[in-house]
Amino acid sequence: MVSFNPPTNTKFIFITGGVLSGLGKGIVSASVGRLIKSTGLSIIFIKCDGYLNIDPGTMRPTEHGEVFVQEDGGEVDMDFGHYERFLDINTKSSWNLTMGKIFNQILTNERKGKYLGQTVQLIPQTTNEIKNKIYKLSEKANIAVIEIGGTVGDIEIMLFLEAIRQIKNEYGSKNCLFMHLSFVPVLNGEHKTKPTQHSVRELLKAGIQPDIIICRTSEAVARRAKEKIAYFCNVLFENIIDDPDAETVYEVPLVFKSQGLDKIIKNNLDLKNTLEDITQIKQASITNNKSSNLSWAELIKNYKNPQQEITIAICGKYTSLHDSYISILEALNHCRAHLSVKINLKWIDTSNLNQQLTESLKEVNGVIVPGGFGTRGVEGKIIVIKYARENNLPFLGLCYGMQLAIVEFGRNVCGLNNANSTEIDAQTEHPVIDILQDQKEITEKGGTMRLGKFPAVLKEGTKVYEIYGQEQISERHRHRYEVNPKYLKLLEEKGIIFSGVSSDKKLVEFIELQNHPFFIGTQAHPEFKSRFENPAPLFVEFIKSCIKIKKEKA
Ligand code: GLN
Repeated sequence: MVSFNPPTNTKFIFITGGVLSGLGKGIVSASVGRLIKSTGLSIIFIKCDGYLNIDPGTMRPTEHGEVFVQEDGGEVDMDFGHYERFLDINTKSSWNLTMGKIFNQILTNERKGKYLGQTVQLIPQTTNEIKNKIYKLSEKANIAVIEIGGTVGDIEIMLFLEAIRQIKNEYGSKNCLFMHLSFVPVLNGEHKTKPTQHSVRELLKAGIQPDIIICRTSEAVARRAKEKIAYFCNVLFENIIDDPDAETVYEVPLVFKSQGLDKIIKNNLDLKNTLEDITQIKQASITNNKSSNLSWAELIKNYKNPQQEITIAICGKYTSLHDSYISILEALNHCRAHLSVKINLKWIDTSNLNQQLTESLKEVNGVIVPGGFGTRGVEGKIIVIKYARENNLPFLGLCYGMQLAIVEFGRNVCGLNNANSTEIDAQTEHPVIDILQDQKEITEKGGTMRLGKFPAVLKEGTKVYEIYGQEQISERHRHRYEVNPKYLKLLEEKGIIFSGVSSDKKLVEFIELQNHPFFIGTQAHPEFKSRFENPAPLFVEFIKSCIKIKKEKA
């Protein structure tokens, strides 16, 4: 039996997906969350993933997309990025339930003799464990949005479906709402409903009747097709909602609202609170850019009608899979909406060292060198950084990008021959980037990375201080290496400004150069904290400086 009592004040919204993967369930969940956001209602997101990894931290970004880092150091599924960006909230690592976590718990319990002689089975022990975790997590929330990863019919999510079926059985329909995202293709000009019918049938086999069907489609589904879906899937006609292609994912909450989805959810779950109206409410953003005090609808308008245009380069090794850089791309999208600027991207794969590398930089107005691991493409990135430094091209170095800026500066300005990070060359004469002694000890204990939120103290009078507008800030981290303290003095003498350091002053958090329009690097990943209504200040100022450079050159 369930060992934890179900919470009494929580309403559950379950989101499943059918037909095929990649329909944007994360966007749908985040959009639903944003629509029902209201002061006085606390929302929790729980993402259930069927794989057996404990968390996605060790999974290849080329296969699984970016690893998203939370305040508490959780390395979680990309969808958490959507939840945070849409709702401007901080999520927690415990909100990601993978089957790996569940099984790990079951096997630990079994070894500890917690099942008192019972035969441990998929049902009920595993489903109970899933329910326990969901109940414990949602205990204090008013609303729990629970996204089931994968596609209905996948063997690996069957236990999650069985667990949520039981939750509805325990809670009743006023407290549980099932939303199913399906795909409605267009063939010869006609919306085809059969895949949706089949996937709902698959859901029914698991004992789940959806209340709302979201139709992912290229254009609004024709009335006739909607009627068919409603009839064959046992869903009210008005509860069939279109999810058509949009220019930006941030349009989706507005598209849902225009179809009354917020009201449907409110009525079905009997919510008493007044929901925020995103076409009206203005969110004050933390940037010093006054004009960003705009409503969601105004931001979308800005996004769709940009008043200016720039091109920036992103240099990395996964340039073919843009999902591995999704937080950076979204941070840029936030800038687009707030500054009304179209940002064209030029992806530069720095693994190909050739003349073209710097040639291709001649056409851009700024360059981002993002985070990364390993040696591939590193020398190319260093060439790009040197070019940006010498040619007054705005540069934003994120984590590895900052470390490589130090390497470049060490080699070419401080005269440190073959200076390097020990990640790239363990034997380097000048390890300007290294694993510090304290960190080595942690590594031996099994924790390998500096993960999650760390505070930084900013130095008055620097650009970074001006951008953040305060002395004490924090950003998220995910790395092993640091600027080697032995070289700080020399680097500083030659012109690097350490504009932000850790609270104990031992670690470098931000660097910048004087006499350069914008040359800033950070050991952190500010992209993880950029939100649609509240963009990351460092990105906003970087883009402003790219705009300025472009105008000056014109
Ligand atoms: N590879 C570098 C380190 O581990 C940088 C990591 C990153 O960019 N996230 O320190």
